[in-house]
Amino acid sequence: MIVDDRLFVEERLPAVAVAPPLAWQVLVIDDEPDVHQLTRMVLRGLRFDGLGIEVISGYTGKDACAIMAQTTGIAVLLLDVVMETDQAGLEVVRYIREELKNGFVRIILRTGQAGQAPEPEVISQYDINDYREKTELTSQKLITAVTTALRAYRDLRTIENLALNLKKERESLKRAQAVAHFGNWEWECNTNRIVFSDEMLAIGGLDRPSSSSELSIFLNCIHPEDRVRVGHVVSGMTVLGGERSDLECRIVRPNGEVRMVHLVCENHPGDAPGTCYVLGTVHDITSTREVEDRLKIVTSVFGGAMEEVHEHMRIATKVLENAIEGVVVTDAKGIIQSVNPAFVRITGHEAVEVIGNPLRSLHGTHTDQDLRDSLWKSLMEDGVWRGEVWNRKKNGEAYPQWETIIVIRDRAGQVANFISIFHDLTEIRASQKELHFKTYHDTLTGLPNRDLFVDRLNQAVVNAQRNNGKVLVIFLGLDYFKKINNSLGHKLGDQLLKDVSTRLRTFIREGDTLSRLAGDSFGFIMREIHNTKDAVFVAQKIGNALAEPFIIDEHKLFLTASTGITLFPDDGQEGSTLINNADMALNRAKVTGRDTCTFYKATMGEQANQRLKMEKNMRQGLERGEFVLFYQPKVSLVTGRVVGMEALVRWRQPDAGMVSPGEFIPVAEETGLILPLGEWILRTACQQNRIWRDAGFDRLRMAVNLSVRQFRQRDLFDRVRLILQETGLPPPLLELEITESMVMDNVESVIVTLTRLRSLGLFIAVDDFGTGYSSLSYLKRFPIHTLKIDQSFVRDLTLDSDDAAIINAIIAMAKSLKLNVVAEGVETEEQLNFLRLEGCDEMQGYFFGKPMSAEEFTDLLKSGRRLKDS
Ligand code: C2E
Ligand code: CA
Ligand code: CA
Repeated sequence: MIVDDRLFVEERLPAVAVAPPLAWQVLVIDDEPDVHQLTRMVLRGLRFDGLGIEVISGYTGKDACAIMAQTTGIAVLLLDVVMETDQAGLEVVRYIREELKNGFVRIILRTGQAGQAPEPEVISQYDINDYREKTELTSQKLITAVTTALRAYRDLRTIENLALNLKKERESLKRAQAVAHFGNWEWECNTNRIVFSDEMLAIGGLDRPSSSSELSIFLNCIHPEDRVRVGHVVSGMTVLGGERSDLECRIVRPNGEVRMVHLVCENHPGDAPGTCYVLGTVHDITSTREVEDRLKIVTSVFGGAMEEVHEHMRIATKVLENAIEGVVVTDAKGIIQSVNPAFVRITGHEAVEVIGNPLRSLHGTHTDQDLRDSLWKSLMEDGVWRGEVWNRKKNGEAYPQWETIIVIRDRAGQVANFISIFHDLTEIRASQKELHFKTYHDTLTGLPNRDLFVDRLNQAVVNAQRNNGKVLVIFLGLDYFKKINNSLGHKLGDQLLKDVSTRLRTFIREGDTLSRLAGDSFGFIMREIHNTKDAVFVAQKIGNALAEPFIIDEHKLFLTASTGITLFPDDGQEGSTLINNADMALNRAKVTGRDTCTFYKATMGEQANQRLKMEKNMRQGLERGEFVLFYQPKVSLVTGRVVGMEALVRWRQPDAGMVSPGEFIPVAEETGLILPLGEWILRTACQQNRIWRDAGFDRLRMAVNLSVRQFRQRDLFDRVRLILQETGLPPPLLELEITESMVMDNVESVIVTLTRLRSLGLFIAVDDFGTGYSSLSYLKRFPIHTLKIDQSFVRDLTLDSDDAAIINAIIAMAKSLKLNVVAEGVETEEQLNFLRLEGCDEMQGYFFGKPMSAEEFTDLLKSGRRLKDS
């Protein structure tokens, strides 16, 4: 038997939530409860940058201060200026800006009436984003105001992050330099403050200067003859805005010792706009120069006294032996004569392997002809060349090196030797490259991050504009990923994301981009797309690729994904518009039932309004009695008799006809309307069952669905008890259905709630079982009576052996826990036969009966119809 792991996940992996922010936090402070409700309603559908809105409520200025002090991530504050409860709104604003020093949160003031608007000085002093009269804040305007504020907040945060990244980048560069024994300093142009690294102090022979040192401290170390030149380069960086320049100069230590250094200056933007840093990297090349000089002397004194030559040779050799730079000496034809130990260490070539070969043989193909020409020219004209070249190590690996080549001439002025002195730049380069990579990629999957995605999209749009091309943007969100993450642990979740990204990568062709946008969402930019049909085809193919189960640590995981699609130029002209569109479409796909692919439509902006309209209609509908209950029979697979029914709500809208619960229940859930509606459903279902009982059908159990929100109601127990009392239905004739996902949330309190409900004498069923990754050990602890196998497994039962195996496992497990098993959505005789063979207790589905009105159900009962074949 293949056992699906979803059913047998033990508790060994605790769910530690270190989730990134999931929504923008908007704090609403107002003393009128209505305002909160209204705001919540309006902002519910709003999405910005791929995230939804979380509304936090407070009723007094004190609340505002306390919440702001405790919560760092609040993006927008909607603040009532005049409240009856306590301090004026402006006092709150002052507290936030001045005492909490929170300059990020965007503040929108709401004034009661005209004339309460704050003074312009106050607005600018406290950086107030917006103020509106309450009556003026219609839903559209509120959405606009909040979106504008969110944009400002995000930009502020982005700037802060950018500054932080730059700071980090500078730090790592400095670390890399320290490793390579490079000194550095950092000069803040606008304050003139300079900071030296320890290596820099060592090179300059300096003590650590006081904290308020200025650039002049560095310039004073420079040899007087070089000082003007250096000063020019450093200050020139800030004035001319150059990014990088380098030179060689001398540093004079306090004890008079002169060091030759190679100085590289780089210009980095500062944290605040208009400021900058100059970073100086200082490499002590005295020993290199000494080698050069000594060798020059050696050759120049070739005709001199032999003793002197020997002495110089001895010193030169010693320096060569110990230099950290690689040194190669060639003859006039460029044939290698000798190399030093550092050469061997850096390149991996042994001395014997290279001596006798041309120096050129070490240079890889990386050295191009232009470079060779210019190198040769400066060697012949100036006797020296310096620059960066790529060389090859023995193992074939190419690496960048900083190389100095000098020409040694004999007394007759003929070239006698070339000496190449070099050091390996790989480490520094690598750390710079890594930094760059990290800034633009997601560390877990190695995919481009959102920033890079946005960049690439803008680029793709520009290119497409030029070539009249199309750009397809697909956002893909993994359904229920958070649940997997929470129930199976973050380590497994991470692995799953990696595996998903590996599969998604296969869809990427050259020039396309795949990016991880956020926790469980990915983005594609594709260019070779010609029409919407292709686009949908691609999106579906991608979705299907994830349908194959993922196997991780012996877990077999089934994933589905929702996708949102948008196309340039059809749906938008700009990168940002396309991103918003794709986001909206993805959101829509998730709302309309996941595992779907949705194309962006221009009408989506109206979505929020439509929701509002639906809510209003539902409220009216509830008053006008437009809701009715239908009942779907549940049949025993043993006796073939009807043993109960499930109450399913229907909405008969006078002008729109029947609206399906799949459409309105989610809205009711979001708006809270589910509470009165759910109460009505429960009462009506109990009343109806009481009627049937009185008519002699006295063993039918009525199943009623409880929504998440209802289930979390604090007084649920009292409400249910009251309804049972009022209707006089014996509690064992009632069964409450809750979904698997509801049970998985906050297990301890769920156990308490269920145990209390159970104590009334009613029964509890777990609905849609098999979709929610619950674990056997959890289930054991719940006082439940029935498992309802989700329709999705029953549907493909006869086609898909996996589904058959899952059903088999669920039934086996349920039996071991002595639970009643109901199969939902049974439509065919084959399904029925399979389920019966497996030992399923009851079934519900179109095969026996669709949901029907109370009258029809009564007729069914009276007819005494039984399941065929039993
Ligand atoms: P559910 O609780 O899983 O209800 C079963 C759904 O499957 C019902 O859809 C039912 O009509 C449908 N169904 C039953 N047998 C078959 C079959 O053989 N084939 C197919 N294809 N479908 C079958 P319905 O009534 O549209 O309800 C959809 C969902 O809306 C329900 O799923 C439930 O989550 C929610 N809902 C419905 N009524 C209520 C209610 O009174 N209260 C609450 N809280 N939710 C409700
Ligand atoms: Ca149900
Ligand atoms: Ca169900």
